[in-house]
Amino acid sequence: MASMTTRSDNPASSRFPVGRQAFPHRDLTGIGRLQRHEILFLLAEAQQWVEFNRQSAKHGDLLTGLTVINAFFENSTRTLLSFEIAGKRLGADVVNMHAAQSSVKKGETLIDTAITLNAMRADAIVIRHGSSGATQLIADQVDCPVLNAGDGQHEHPTQALLDALALREALVARGQSADDFTGLTITICGDILHSRVARSNLLCLQALGATVRLCAPPALMPTGIEAMGAEVHHDFDAALKGADVVMMLRLQTERMSGQFIPSPREYHHLYGLTKRRLGYASGDALVMHPGPMNRGVEIDSDVADMIDRSIITRQVEMGVAIRMACLEVLTRARRGVKGWS
Ligand code: ASP
Repeated sequence: MASMTTRSDNPASSRFPVGRQAFPHRDLTGIGRLQRHEILFLLAEAQQWVEFNRQSAKHGDLLTGLTVINAFFENSTRTLLSFEIAGKRLGADVVNMHAAQSSVKKGETLIDTAITLNAMRADAIVIRHGSSGATQLIADQVDCPVLNAGDGQHEHPTQALLDALALREALVARGQSADDFTGLTITICGDILHSRVARSNLLCLQALGATVRLCAPPALMPTGIEAMGAEVHHDFDAALKGADVVMMLRLQTERMSGQFIPSPREYHHLYGLTKRRLGYASGDALVMHPGPMNRGVEIDSDVADMIDRSIITRQVEMGVAIRMACLEVLTRARRGVKGWS
C-alpha cells in the first residue's frame, strides 16, 4: 500500500463519477461549496488511510517531491499536527509557518504573504487564519491547491469531514448505515456564534441527511441561523431529548469581545454535558467534541471519557486520515494522475 501511485484500485471508486468529476475543486475552502457526493467521495478516500495509519509501517510516497506549507496564523495543536503527519505519511516535504515567525507580525498584508508563499512554489498550502474568508483570499492569489484549516468563524471543513468519518465508523460498528445519516438527530451545543466547527458540521451533517439541533445561550446563537435549516434551542435538556449524537463545543473566549456568559460555573450548570443530562438523549447516544476540551465547563470528565459512548479520541485519529485524503486528492492534477489533470 505504501507505494501505491493511483487510487484506481480503490473499491469505493465505482460509487463516484470517474476522474476529476468525482471532486472537481482545486481548493477545499468550505463544506458549503461541496455536493453530497463530493463529501462522500472524500470520506471513502479517507477510509483507506484509516487502515493505512493502523499499520506499523506507515510511510507512503504518493506526494514524494511535493512541498506542503502549513501556514498557521492562529494557534493550533491537533489540526497543525495532523496536517503535518498527513503530509509526511504521504511522503511530502512539510514546512510549518507559524504566525509568530511570520512577516504578518511585521505588518505584511495577507495578499503579500500569499504572493510570497506562492513564489516558494508550494504544491499545497494549508491555511489557518483568524479572519473569516482569509483562506479564499489566499486561494485566489496562488497557483496551488489551498486547504482551509479554519478561518475565523466561517468554516473548518476538515473538522466536519473527520467528524463525519468518526461518526460513520461508530455507526458501522453498530451495524448501521455508513453513507446516509437520514434519521439521525445530532445536537450541537456550545458557543455556536463563534464556532466555525458548528457551521461546517451543520452543512456537512445536513448534506448527509441528518437533522441538526443547535443549542446555545441566546447571546451565543447567531441570529438567522434557522435559515440554514437547523433547529434552534436555548434549553439544553430539550435539545438533548432523543438525540443520537451530542457534539459539545467550547466557549471560544479568544473571539469574544465583552462578557457573553455570567460565569463558567453558571454556564456549566445550564449547558454543561453531565452524565445525568446525557440521560435525556437516546440510550446509546454518542458523544463528540472537536477539542480542545474544557473539562468541567462544557463537558464533564465522566462523559468525555465514557468508553462506550465518547468517540472524541476517534475524531482525532480520523483527522489524520481525512487530511491525507484531502492532500492526496487535491494534488492529483499536479501529480499528473490519469483523469485528474
Ligand atoms: N479546534 C477547533 C477550531 O479550531 C475548535 C476549537 O478551537 O474550539 O475551531
